[in-house]
Amino acid sequence: MRILLDHAHVLTMQDGDVQYPDGYVLVEDDRIHALGPSSDAPQDADRVIDCHGGILLPGFVNLHCHVSMVPFRTMGDDCPDRLNRFLFPLERDAVGPELVYLSALYGIGEMLLSGITAFVDMYYFEEEVARAVCETGIRGWLGETVISQSAPDAENEAAGLARCEAFLKQYAGHPLVTPLPAPHGTTTVSADALKACGELARKYDTLLTLHVSEMDAEIRHFEGMGTTPVQYLDSLGLADNRLLAAHCIHLTQEDIRLMAQKGVRTAHCVGSNMKAGKGIAPIRDLHLQGVPFGFGTDGPSSGNTLSILDQMRLFACAQKTRYHDRSLFPASQILRFATRGGAECLHARDRFGQILPGLQADLVLVSLDAAHLFPLYNPYSALVYGANASDVSLVMVGGEILVQDHRLTRMDLPSIREKLRGAMGPFLQAAEKYRDII
Ligand SMILES: [Zn+2]
Repeated sequence: MRILLDHAHVLTMQDGDVQYPDGYVLVEDDRIHALGPSSDAPQDADRVIDCHGGILLPGFVNLHCHVSMVPFRTMGDDCPDRLNRFLFPLERDAVGPELVYLSALYGIGEMLLSGITAFVDMYYFEEEVARAVCETGIRGWLGETVISQSAPDAENEAAGLARCEAFLKQYAGHPLVTPLPAPHGTTTVSADALKACGELARKYDTLLTLHVSEMDAEIRHFEGMGTTPVQYLDSLGLADNRLLAAHCIHLTQEDIRLMAQKGVRTAHCVGSNMKAGKGIAPIRDLHLQGVPFGFGTDGPSSGNTLSILDQMRLFACAQKTRYHDRSLFPASQILRFATRGGAECLHARDRFGQILPGLQADLVLVSLDAAHLFPLYNPYSALVYGANASDVSLVMVGGEILVQDHRLTRMDLPSIREKLRGAMGPFLQAAEKYRDII
């Protein structure tokens, strides 16, 4: 099957920011076959899609999410220490496999509609998220969470580790799902379990992800031990290029040097971090030292929208403000972090992240029909500073069109929402006891 996407403003994200203002991309089966100016477009495609001048770019990569937390969205958004006050207990009491599965379907639908073609998840019952990934066609790097307390899917840490390994075994070599261990955080998991997760990542040749240097209490905990979360992970043998460290808000210069030297990757969740008042990560300094990073939405109750377009705008505003420098991180560079940079963090830059012949056809078309996208002088600026998820009109993963004319092709989102609403009954009942804080 050869699909020609014609008359698009093609942003290839290749070196040198190669772009074709009136261009085409030819997709053959699951891969990008050719691209160039529309005047050279081949005439023998099986199907031709006229992009009407919309911006065509590689799919967005979401490096940190808890997609199945949809039922928690807008719950206690302004409540201090909500993690311990109601999130952990409510998860333990009321999160089960069906809720995880239906929430994942819904959240993945939302991500596809905003142009995300690959995401990293960490949660419980991750095999249910894997089922949703296979049904929806998105790419998932799925982390089964290990935590040193009773969890929704495991009574204790040992049971969590056993579950995690079973999941890694089950999905090893899967075309869409890449399984990984996801210990919860640096203070919520014992040193032994963190080391065991590191061994699992090596044994199954995969990544490892966890929350790092995110919470004030976490930083105080390690200060008391005369160290930092990053240096602690290094002492356990976890600081290497398999490590995708989410958040990394509070870092010392020594932490940054260590991360650069060891090849640690960072999932930067600016929207979630600023909403919680946690701080703005020193991304300029990480970038100057060569630490790879990309963007994460965090869960639907942390960042509220599952859209990397939102993260790009917040990132630009936060970094320019933090460093008092308007010229810092031009829009084209920010779009690179959101696409190719994310792929690099997943060790997948030879699979997707650019519009380049031979790579997977993971593509997004952003329509320029909306009032806020006129006129167009700089397409990168339009995407970073102006575009919203609702401007995404077409999304392709591995050559299959999963969003067309702003609608999901494989899923009926309103009916999934109704099923999810029905499954949320016991969850809402359990939430009643926190009514005064949520
Ligand atoms: Zn998180």
